[in-house]
Amino acid sequence: MSIIIKDLHAKIGDTEILKGVNLEIPKGEVHAIMGINGSGKSTLSKVIAGHDDYQVTSGTIEMDGQDILDMDVDERSREGVFLAFQYPMEIPGVSNANFIRAALNARLPEGEELDAVAYYKELYAKMDGLEMDRKFTARAVNEGFSGGEKKRNEILQMAMLEPKYCILDETDSGLDIDALKIVSRGVNSLRTEDRGFLIITHYQRLLNYIKPDVVHVMYDGQIIKSGGPELALELEEQGYEQFKPASV
Ligand code: ADP
Ligand code: MG
Repeated sequence: MSIIIKDLHAKIGDTEILKGVNLEIPKGEVHAIMGINGSGKSTLSKVIAGHDDYQVTSGTIEMDGQDILDMDVDERSREGVFLAFQYPMEIPGVSNANFIRAALNARLPEGEELDAVAYYKELYAKMDGLEMDRKFTARAVNEGFSGGEKKRNEILQMAMLEPKYCILDETDSGLDIDALKIVSRGVNSLRTEDRGFLIITHYQRLLNYIKPDVVHVMYDGQIIKSGGPELALELEEQGYEQFKPASV
């Protein structure tokens, strides 16, 4: 069981951004993608999640043997793909608690609803784990949240939805060290044999807390190198220059 991406090309408008991405994320593993700004990391995460600004021009994405490219964003989410955004959106007028509840209800068969008491019990337990104040249940989704609060809120959504595949796009950016530890703990508590992770990060620091099985380097819309956790340290020390293809 895995997400398998083969020779994926995607563009926005007339600009090709992903230029042949190959990647396999098996369940039970944590894969990290590192790369300079503009290399296509966020684009890859949004294309996997099904963001409709991006047009896939060739290649395939399979999840547990199923082609997901024809599924819309909703369907992919219900099938178990979750993306924690680099820049989480604010949703004025919708409380955090109702937002997550609606997402969970949408996963139930027609006519069934979550039990409210059980729902809040679980929500509060997960908020406690992320050291989030209860007041965040009643506040509109991400509205007026600090950068760090938004990132924590993304992890709360992820913890509640229990996706099969979790993609985290620069969840560490904007977090101070304490928040980074709390968020990492939240992510680590979700690591199981039947869940896969794709962690996108600019810095090695996050990977001290969330230990990856495999590290990939993205450059100009392609994954140009993969290796073990030591690759992240090498990048931190030596920068990305060394990995540029000779022709660039
Ligand atoms: P990363 O996350 O690695 O920093 P992105 O995937 O955000 O990179 O961006 C890759 C490239 O695609 C960049 O050159 C960026 O300017 C371009 N790009 C991304 N989104 C858009 C967009 N909506 N319109 C035009 N160009 C975009
Ligand atoms: Mg990005």
